[in-house]
Amino acid sequence: MRRWNGWGDDAVSYGVTGEAKAFLEERIGPGTAPRDVSRQEIMAKVPRSRLPGHPLVHEDVWQRVLHSAGQSQGDWIDIRGGTVPAFPDGVAYPESEEDVRTLLTYARQAGVIVIPYGGGTSVVGHLSVPLQDRPVLSVDMSRMKALLELDDTSRLATFQAGVRGPDLEAALNARNYTLGHYPQSFEYSTLGGWVAARSAGQYSLRYGKIERLFAGGRVETPVGRLELPALPATAAGPDLREMVLGSEGRLGVITQAVVRVQPLPEKEVIKAAFFPDAASALAAVRELAQSGLPLGMLRLSLSEETETTLRLSGPNKALDILEKWLALRGAGEGRCLLLYGGIGLAGTVRWVLGEAWAILKKHRGIPVGTPIGRAWHKNRFRLPYIRNELWEMGYAVDTLETAVSWRRVPETVRAVQQALSEGLESEKVHVFTHLSHFYPQGASIYTSYVFRVAPSAAETRERWQRLKRAASAAIVRCGGTISHQHGVGLDHRPYLAAEKGVQGLAMLRSVCRAVDPEEMMNPGKLIAEG
Ligand SMILES: Cc1cc2nc3c(=O)[nH]c(=O)nc-3n(C[C@H](O)[C@H](O)[C@H](O)COP(=O)(O)OP(=O)(O)OC[C@H]3O[C@@H](n4cnc5c(N)ncnc54)[C@H](O)[C@@H]3O)c2cc1C
Repeated sequence: MRRWNGWGDDAVSYGVTGEAKAFLEERIGPGTAPRDVSRQEIMAKVPRSRLPGHPLVHEDVWQRVLHSAGQSQGDWIDIRGGTVPAFPDGVAYPESEEDVRTLLTYARQAGVIVIPYGGGTSVVGHLSVPLQDRPVLSVDMSRMKALLELDDTSRLATFQAGVRGPDLEAALNARNYTLGHYPQSFEYSTLGGWVAARSAGQYSLRYGKIERLFAGGRVETPVGRLELPALPATAAGPDLREMVLGSEGRLGVITQAVVRVQPLPEKEVIKAAFFPDAASALAAVRELAQSGLPLGMLRLSLSEETETTLRLSGPNKALDILEKWLALRGAGEGRCLLLYGGIGLAGTVRWVLGEAWAILKKHRGIPVGTPIGRAWHKNRFRLPYIRNELWEMGYAVDTLETAVSWRRVPETVRAVQQALSEGLESEKVHVFTHLSHFYPQGASIYTSYVFRVAPSAAETRERWQRLKRAASAAIVRCGGTISHQHGVGLDHRPYLAAEKGVQGLAMLRSVCRAVDPEEMMNPGKLIAEG
């Protein structure tokens, strides 16, 4: 069963080792397990529903708790500490576009706020329930998950937007196709959520971000249906798909999405190489990203992340041998781990990995074959489970990300890491970074940070907000986007103006107003009202 106050299936755990615990204690001090509220305690906080009755709307208290938060750090603190500011007044589970239409008409007539709910995996406060006079309805898309059409000739698949990653891939794989979109939240996140939050998957190098995969679809807006025809290309004015991508529930409910699919790859091989330092590793990945080689994936862990990964996976004999061997080859402290993969026809994979290696070698890469890549592939959706165990040991883990041009990568990594590690005066923060989405012009930067949970939820929140503010300000200062893949939600909203400017925000606001004159769709997310 899915955890109600943490990540993932409650039968799955990460398994933090004694060595990993000792490593964290050494870096930031011993953690103290926080007191989390129980299911009964949080249910007792849910007020009476203010919604007028409707056959499609459920007022069940537990369902309202489950739809009160996503997975942002603020959401975690609130749900664990029992400080959720507001709960939806009801939850609906539409099964068809007609149901969605009916719900929007009901909501409009009754002055109800609507929050579309995909998989609930948002990490930036997209799903927080606003404290308002108006009642709030969460529209959970989980029953709209069918594959409606697969056009083999055009390689286009039409899905209902509530389909989760595993169901989507299973439906396509059965017909020998794949979408190739694997965010780390794959198990629970949905196609509609990917589009609404502009998601990026682990194989973005091969398949592209969701914006490259999203060919068209349908959105039910408060004032009527928006159709987005799936054309291969168009010069008919601005592309309305771009309005829907990243719309974060503000324009309406995405009910269907047409996606560009590809034949299942014949082979996937992920290799690993170490570099003695970040400068040579960055030079190597930049050359790869600019080479035009059709690689499947790249993921570069910078020094602190490499060290953290090795410490988390140990202790074991193979690791000891590897570390000794790397030290002999000149990759000691400061070393960086690169994963690079080929995905596609067997011959192409062999060729592309060979060409890639020629580049890596030039930059002092040290090959370590496929075992690390295989282990990464096997555990690639398991890593987030560590957050549950660390929280219970008294440590909070959060991540943030940006993208910048190549010239700015080193300074941005430095600035974000420094803002976080110096962000709390009397507490240490463990900070580490990887790069996982690459373009000829630049890359995304993904930084994780671990800090100790405080004795009260309010104090933990204060710690988190100070860190988040400091890192976001550093991103803006370095000219990065406030998000490469997680979206804006509530948490990044204060920084959006730096990227869009006054005119840009006004344009976005007017688009929202055109289809949502009453500001009933997920108000407060992405842009402030007014
Ligand atoms: C452990 C973990 C790992 C993650 N890894 C990645 C990653 O690798 N890459 C990445 O890009 N993101 C990642 N994320 C973030 C998150 O999974 C993505 O933002 C994802 O796209 C959200 O999808 P969802 O279905 O869960 O949407 P939700 O969280 O339910 O909603 C997100 C936003 O989209 C809106 N929305 C959802 N469905 C619809 C719809 N049908 N119509 C209109 N609006 C809708 C909601 O109103 C909300 O504003 C991760 C999150 C977690 C917790």
